[in-house]
Amino acid sequence: MNSQFKNTRLKLTFQYLAILMVVSTIFSIVTFISLNAELLRSARREQQRVVATELKIELPKPLPDPKNLPRELVDPPLNIEIKQTYTNSKNLLILQLILANILVLGLSTVAAYILAGNTLKPIEEMIDDQKKFISNASHELRTPLTTLKTAIEVTLKMGPTSYDRIKDVLESNLEDVNSLETLTNNLLTIEKYQHNQDLQNKNILQFDKLVNDCIKHFIPKAKVNNIKIISDINSVSISGNYQCLAEMVNNLLDNAIKYNQKKGKIFIKLFSKNKNIFLQIKDTGIGINPSDIPHIFERFYRADNSRSKINSGGYGLGLSIVSQVVKQHQGKILVDSELGKGTTFTVIF
Ligand code: ADP
Repeated sequence: MNSQFKNTRLKLTFQYLAILMVVSTIFSIVTFISLNAELLRSARREQQRVVATELKIELPKPLPDPKNLPRELVDPPLNIEIKQTYTNSKNLLILQLILANILVLGLSTVAAYILAGNTLKPIEEMIDDQKKFISNASHELRTPLTTLKTAIEVTLKMGPTSYDRIKDVLESNLEDVNSLETLTNNLLTIEKYQHNQDLQNKNILQFDKLVNDCIKHFIPKAKVNNIKIISDINSVSISGNYQCLAEMVNNLLDNAIKYNQKKGKIFIKLFSKNKNIFLQIKDTGIGINPSDIPHIFERFYRADNSRSKINSGGYGLGLSIVSQVVKQHQGKILVDSELGKGTTFTVIF
């Protein structure tokens, strides 16, 4: 916990404590008033008994209304002995209440400190997460920007040059700009999904049509990489947001192509079973190291696999978007992978 949070935790502890102590003090005052009244009443009763014995009067039990009592028995002044007993009992009561309040203060300090920590923990985690996200995003943005800047500076210093040379530079610049565009789009998508925008608009839609549309979109890219897509899509309807679900399928298909072997295959299955919808995307690619699997859904995480890092051109945001969409649709995603053999992602709604 950093110092700012420690200070806030202490402040919150004092606030909780102040509330508890106000309540405890009010409770003690009310208790004192009612118990003191009771002590005073029994002291008076004792005094009435003493006066009644002196006057040789039989005191009726229970005592009648003070109006019906002989005048000497109505509020007789307390004698020294009874007054002393009453004062002792009153002092003991005050001492007990003070001790009880000290005990409450001690216990409440511990409880308030723990409670303040628990209240602040999720906020601190969220802020840490946000900081990490901003630092990762800035780092990722800096790389293509630096390349772009260097290329432009070198070209400017070169002086008059051939069209072919300029074309090469512009093409490389365009690659960097495209990369920046992909990154900013991914960042915007993550930000949007984090605040549940879009996900509010859920409709009943044909999931099979959505998946087929996504597959069609990837056929040219698969052909370029000599990858064969084999699909078995059953008619399934789902309550969800079209754009978000399409984004999820696109990211999974994109990875299945990016991390596949040359002349690899992708098997896509969509079916429903026991009121659940299953979408399975299996590739015959490079696979994921078992130690990377728990982290692949984290933002900006890329498996420490040289091929996936160098050639994918990704930023480690795709699966994080997938997991957000799955979560917002109350689903779950399973990963089964074997290095060098392939990976299967199964989304269950
Ligand atoms: P990226 O943009 O880097 O692909 P993702 O969030 O989509 O980011 O994936 C995170 C990491 O998980 C990838 O860098 C890659 O190492 C691994 N990964 C994801 N899908 C697959 C797959 N189908 N086969 C092998 N590795 C994969």
